[in-house]
Amino acid sequence: MLSGRGGSPGTTSVGRSNPGSIPTPSGSKPPGSDPTAASFPVVNSCNPNSVPTAIPVKVDAVGVSSVALHVPILMYHRIVPPADAGNSLKGLVVPPETFAAQMNALAAAGWHTITMATLANDLEAGVKPSAKTFVVTIDDGWDDGYTYALPILQQHGFVATYFVIAGRIDAPGFLTSAHIQALVAAGDEIGDHTMTHFDLANGSTSVRQFQVDAAAARIAQVTGHWPESLAYPFGGENAQAVAAVAGCGELRTAVIESAPAPTPQTPIGRQSTGTGSKPALDLAPHPTATPAPTPTPVPSETWANRFTLQRIRVSPDTTPADLLGEFARYLRAG
Ligand SMILES: [Zn+2]
Repeated sequence: MLSGRGGSPGTTSVGRSNPGSIPTPSGSKPPGSDPTAASFPVVNSCNPNSVPTAIPVKVDAVGVSSVALHVPILMYHRIVPPADAGNSLKGLVVPPETFAAQMNALAAAGWHTITMATLANDLEAGVKPSAKTFVVTIDDGWDDGYTYALPILQQHGFVATYFVIAGRIDAPGFLTSAHIQALVAAGDEIGDHTMTHFDLANGSTSVRQFQVDAAAARIAQVTGHWPESLAYPFGGENAQAVAAVAGCGELRTAVIESAPAPTPQTPIGRQSTGTGSKPALDLAPHPTATPAPTPTPVPSETWANRFTLQRIRVSPDTTPADLLGEFARYLRAG
């Protein structure tokens, strides 16, 4: 999430990184001549015909099975030196060297990535991804997802799903249209995070649908592909929010927020309540006299719950060992 509900990207001071000190991601092209996102008309529709220049989501004509997957889905927000993170919440700012250590450890242990779109394909087709498959998601569309996260991901051949706030594409501190096009060229996925980071658990039906649909259309205008994944801003997920997502026929999965980052005291994951209630955050140290909490079950992804998929929140304090331990639980769950 962003650092505050009232935050405006136009006024948020975010230290732009010095391009000279940043490795150039492969597959990138120099920004410059591309039109900015705001030059496109606002399209309040998820009908693929409304952005005919964009490729619709391809849905295979296969029967939907009841397969349950156990694929860890990591949730990041910012991969940036804390000094350059402006007023973003500290817990959402993962230094690049920490992110690199996490990815290094997972790659060394044999883990590899797929995007949310590929996960949706597997769910629908009843295909189990190969063992040690995980997903990286990065929310809010800050430009550090390109300048810092992409080169680290590419070192391992990893891909990520970037959930961008469509109304902030090309805004200061956020991904530009050129960044986003380079990410797509590198195999990454661009997902819907609403137009204005709107809490979809609130608002009128028409506002919710606009936030979902117009964002999807804007992403289609910029990338040339209709998005097929969404992340609920603020984790705001309830029956109305799910209905808004389901109302956009191009969207196939949606992810929610999750329990705190894994530590020995606070196992991650939560039981699905099916009500969209937010997980209780329990960051306080547990007294030694208190029995260790029972680890929550490993979340599973199914076609039936595809609009409420759980994620593992990664914090700057999440160690590679924490992630490897948590991922081992997913392996055991099969
Ligand atoms: Zn967000």
